[in-house]
Amino acid sequence: MANPSPAKISVECPHCGFKQTEYTAAKSSMCRQCGRYFSPFAPETGLKLRVKEEAAAPQDSSIRQKFEDFWKRQRSCVVECFECGRKQQVSGAAMSTICPGCSAHIDLRDYKITSGFSRTIRTRGDVHLTAKGELGSNSVVCRSALVEGKLRGNLYCDDTATINFSGRIPGRLTAKHVIVERRADVDCFRRMRVSSIEIRGKMSGEIIAQTIVTIHKKGSLEGNVTAKAITVEKGGIFSGQLVIGQAAFTQGELLPERKLAAANTAEPGISGAAPQPLPAT
Ligand SMILES: [Zn+2]
Ligand SMILES: [Zn+2]
Repeated sequence: MANPSPAKISVECPHCGFKQTEYTAAKSSMCRQCGRYFSPFAPETGLKLRVKEEAAAPQDSSIRQKFEDFWKRQRSCVVECFECGRKQQVSGAAMSTICPGCSAHIDLRDYKITSGFSRTIRTRGDVHLTAKGELGSNSVVCRSALVEGKLRGNLYCDDTATINFSGRIPGRLTAKHVIVERRADVDCFRRMRVSSIEIRGKMSGEIIAQTIVTIHKKGSLEGNVTAKAITVEKGGIFSGQLVIGQAAFTQGELLPERKLAAANTAEPGISGAAPQPLPAT
């Protein structure tokens, strides 16, 4: 089945046009002329094209747009390597970067899901699951997410997940902070793991919070809660059992990022090519 000698073909750097050869199995390559990173064979063409189209959708070359782009480029943020945890500063306009510590590729793109989607995402950018989108991916790791569509898969947010959706959520959501918006009315099948959560709309489901659960006025929560503290504002409703301060989980459980990463590499779809034999030392 396996080809004994890996095939190489010529690829062109999208940044400077320099041509070089790459193994066809390569997922990323560094341009030997300008040093920038690019995906030589773009295995996710469909996705990328879609993202690009949508990014360009508001064909608004108005001055305002230009200013926004300008400011986005000026803004920089600190991102952490998925593999070794090293932090680095990147420009707000960068689509990807390479970890200075371990040379791993770090995706920085934002994703907008507008239809059925089931591929793995691991980005330091944001994910927008639109009302028509349906996210079935086994693993989606991102910074913040806006959930307006159906979540069936596993979503992990480093930062905030905002739920603005009504209906069932069969997927698993883990986030540092969750906001259930005023107009949301969700029925979560899986236990939700958060550091903190604020409920402005309606939610039913089990919550395990590292710190605090806040139910705002007009908000309601039906389900069991494990948290350090819970605040129910006047007019807010909480019905369920409450366990205070006995969060029976570890930091590792709340932040399953490394585990997810490990699981990804073991995913059968991706490892259709046999795992690389370890070099003898
Ligand atoms: Zn180049
Ligand atoms: Zn690294």
